[in-house]
Amino acid sequence: MAAVATVLLPSAMHRVSPSSLTRSLAFSIGDDGFRLRSPFNSRRVRDSSSGNSRIAVHCVSNTGTSRDKLFPLASTSTPCRTIHSGFKQSFPWRELSARFVATEAVANDAVGVPSLPQEEMPPRVYTWPYKKNPRVCILGGGFGGLYTALRLESLAWPDDKKPQVLLVDQAERFVFKPMLYEILSGGTYMPKPIECIIDMGNIYSKRWIQTISAEVDSWEIAPRFADLLSNTAVQFVQDRVKVLQPCDHLGINGSAKSDSAGTVLLQSGLLIEYDWLVLALGSETKLDVVPGSAEYALPFSTLEDALKLDSKLRQLERRNFSKGSPISVCIVGCGYAGVELAATVAERLQDRGVVRAINVESMICPTAPPGNREAALKVLTSRKVELLLGYFVRSIQKTSDSDSEKYILELQPAERGMQSQILETDLVLWTVGSKPLLSELEPREQPLELPLNARGQAETDETLRVKGHPRIFALGDSSSLRDLKGKILPPTAQVAFQQADFTGWNLWAAINDRPLLPFRFQNLGEMMTLGQSDAAVSPSFIDGLTLEGPIGHTARKIAYLIRLPTDEHRVKVGLSWLTKSAIQSIASVQDTLTKIVSGS
Ligand SMILES: Cc1cc2nc3c(=O)[nH]c(=O)nc-3n(C[C@H](O)[C@H](O)[C@H](O)COP(=O)(O)OP(=O)(O)OC[C@H]3O[C@@H](n4cnc5c(N)ncnc54)[C@H](O)[C@@H]3O)c2cc1C
Repeated sequence: MAAVATVLLPSAMHRVSPSSLTRSLAFSIGDDGFRLRSPFNSRRVRDSSSGNSRIAVHCVSNTGTSRDKLFPLASTSTPCRTIHSGFKQSFPWRELSARFVATEAVANDAVGVPSLPQEEMPPRVYTWPYKKNPRVCILGGGFGGLYTALRLESLAWPDDKKPQVLLVDQAERFVFKPMLYEILSGGTYMPKPIECIIDMGNIYSKRWIQTISAEVDSWEIAPRFADLLSNTAVQFVQDRVKVLQPCDHLGINGSAKSDSAGTVLLQSGLLIEYDWLVLALGSETKLDVVPGSAEYALPFSTLEDALKLDSKLRQLERRNFSKGSPISVCIVGCGYAGVELAATVAERLQDRGVVRAINVESMICPTAPPGNREAALKVLTSRKVELLLGYFVRSIQKTSDSDSEKYILELQPAERGMQSQILETDLVLWTVGSKPLLSELEPREQPLELPLNARGQAETDETLRVKGHPRIFALGDSSSLRDLKGKILPPTAQVAFQQADFTGWNLWAAINDRPLLPFRFQNLGEMMTLGQSDAAVSPSFIDGLTLEGPIGHTARKIAYLIRLPTDEHRVKVGLSWLTKSAIQSIASVQDTLTKIVSGS
């Protein structure tokens, strides 16, 4: 007879085999504080007083004592006869009132096929390599998370205190976001032995080949975590964080007896127990802002976004090449991201397209240093970017003409005296607003105990510990901290990068019972890219100085090269950029010579 044990979930009955039950029971059971160990031991025993069969399950309490817990068994073979009910089963991802229903065959420990649906599958517990060393779990491998992990690696630790570090990210690659624009900006000349290529039935000239090679390759600005961490002791798990269940605020951590300071459940069902948690999940573009924006506008926040935009532009470039129809791109927002995108896309399209940038404010980059703003304005004007300032986008709709998709933007003036406008475009890029991803985690039935501000960022104290949670640090776009003047620090890589240094240090201090340091942000200045050989850089240490054009571009690239995550990667990328710039110089000399020889 098939072995069946049933866990009654709130809404439906799910059948699980003993093997999956093994895992589903790996957490606290009953209200007596006893939990089951994973994998648990169970055996069939006979109750001496009644003579009935029982399943004895080996349970361990939070204080380390253990005992067998007896579950009665049905003496008949009738499936699903209720034999034990009413105790509270606490699963880490939700509170369940579970009722166990078993048949005789359970005791024979027969093997069955788990039949819980994926989302209800019980978690597997992550096995840390060492029993005693502190367990640090870092969520998010961006500027905050990855650099914290590397900082922890670089510090000197007493042997027994050296933490085991686990980095979790949903993506396979770390992304150096400030350089995502370079994926779009072509220009590196790649000599080819042929003068034309045939692509999808169309013939493209050498000029086409020149424009399709990007200024940077994906691997340079988005290296794989596995490669970056290969020479470190940091473990990496690629998975999506689903649920947080901290318990350090309950005061059960920090004592020698505590098991963990909380758990993190990942999408795959992996459950991580930790002693220290670092929250660095970053943020993404907030798209759901006006009717049609979520459906029709493209964000520009991840590597996938950049690659998707690149591919859309290629499609439009092909259409332009074969049919001659000009390409129209509308960019919503003229903060740093909007202006950098506008400059990059306009440079790429040249006279094949029209770029419009729309901003509700009456100026571009209102918070930027004046030198950066003026440099950007000069470049946008020289590339004929149309600025529609003082407008907000009311809606985006899609229309289709005979052979292409078009979008209609309805613009409403922010001030009186201006006319509403309707724009037709091939592509809408959205750069306004962002949403911290910490607040996007799946809600638990109990409210998440973290103090989040209205934007969904965790509020921290000066040492970057989440308020009320001595074992959780938060940094980067996931966190909210005010500077000494009371201003919330901006969600920038510069802030996250500096906070990672402090988070690493403060974890060291906390684990070694030393005083923690208050974080102080040092504004080093602001940089923006404006195309393949243009940028604006305003360093904070020389008042009023702005490096523009190729000098600004080189200064920005060197600054970012220095900030790449590891020495190995820095060297590889440095060599690659040197090679590309050598090829580019040779190509431009070759072009000049050709022009002189041909007299053009
Ligand atoms: C296009 C662009 C250009 C920018 N340019 C600049 C600039 O020039 N200068 C500057 O200072 N700042 C710039 N920024 C801002 C800067 O990149 C961010 O402020 C910075 O990356 C924040 O670091 P972080 O560690 O908080 O988050 P991120 O670097 O975004 O890292 C978060 C990580 O968490 C992972 N993650 C998110 N949710 C989950 C989940 N549920 N499960 C698992 N993993 C998850 C993500 O995959 C990501 O790897 C730019 C941002 C963008 C998008």
